Amino acid sequence: MSTGQIVHIDRLEAKNPFELRVRKGSAMPDYTVKRALETGDVGFLHSFTTGSTVDGPGVRVVGWTAGCQWRCLYCHNPDTWNIVNGTPVTLERAVEVLGQYRHGLEAMSGGFTLSGGEPLVQDRFAVRLFSAARAMGIHTALDTNGALGGKLTDAELETIDLVLLDMKAWDGERHRRLTGRDVIHTLDFALRLAERKRPVWLRYVLVPGLTDDLEDIARIACFASSLENVERVDVLPFHQLGQFKWTSLGLRYALGNVGPPTPELVERVRGLFLAEGLKAF
Ligand code: SF4
Repeated sequence: MSTGQIVHIDRLEAKNPFELRVRKGSAMPDYTVKRALETGDVGFLHSFTTGSTVDGPGVRVVGWTAGCQWRCLYCHNPDTWNIVNGTPVTLERAVEVLGQYRHGLEAMSGGFTLSGGEPLVQDRFAVRLFSAARAMGIHTALDTNGALGGKLTDAELETIDLVLLDMKAWDGERHRRLTGRDVIHTLDFALRLAERKRPVWLRYVLVPGLTDDLEDIARIACFASSLENVERVDVLPFHQLGQFKWTSLGLRYALGNVGPPTPELVERVRGLFLAEGLKAF
């Protein structure tokens, strides 16, 4: 594979994933992208950030991948939808950079999180990077919508210490309206993680008027509780930090007039998870 288009990962560092990044890998021929997806020799990254305290335990280095098959109405990183908006990075270089953080991450009881986009669009790259991180003694976490979980073998699941599973809605029709896709694959993956006793933190984005149906949330809470592997739930209040990306990309943004949830609503929703015996934040 030609590496002529591949840049150094050092240039990928961002203060946060809210920087708009497009067409970084668009010069790569389709067959090269396809080959990269098949082998995992090269990944497509929006950016990486250091110092996160919200993407898993301790302090995290986070790799933000490009590529997502969903179209969530509240997505705050629509520039990650298209894989070739990401910057091509060799696996070798990604591992090398990660290795530079290993001692710091260990000292801060942290680790490495792969988020996105949807990291499992690039499942081979994700698996190989997680395996390498594990071999260096780095804690690994995958932030995923879960729909592509079937791409991972049971052995590959074992290389992931923690799954941050994003649940968007319970009701099938509501889920399709919100994401463009069915919820069933996410639920299947959640059940598989439970069967295999893999630790999960569940994430739920709370958007007034869109994902604040208390009955729907209560059903998610009941399901999560029944799994017995959900260690905590994070209720994430909606914000508008990604709005400018929709506008810049020429996409129609449906939530321009939506504000953040009130503290009372956030507490009420947290209460639904607490009522099922879950830890909720
Ligand atoms: S799954 Fe995540 S990255 Fe994909 S559209 Fe939804 S919010 Fe955006």
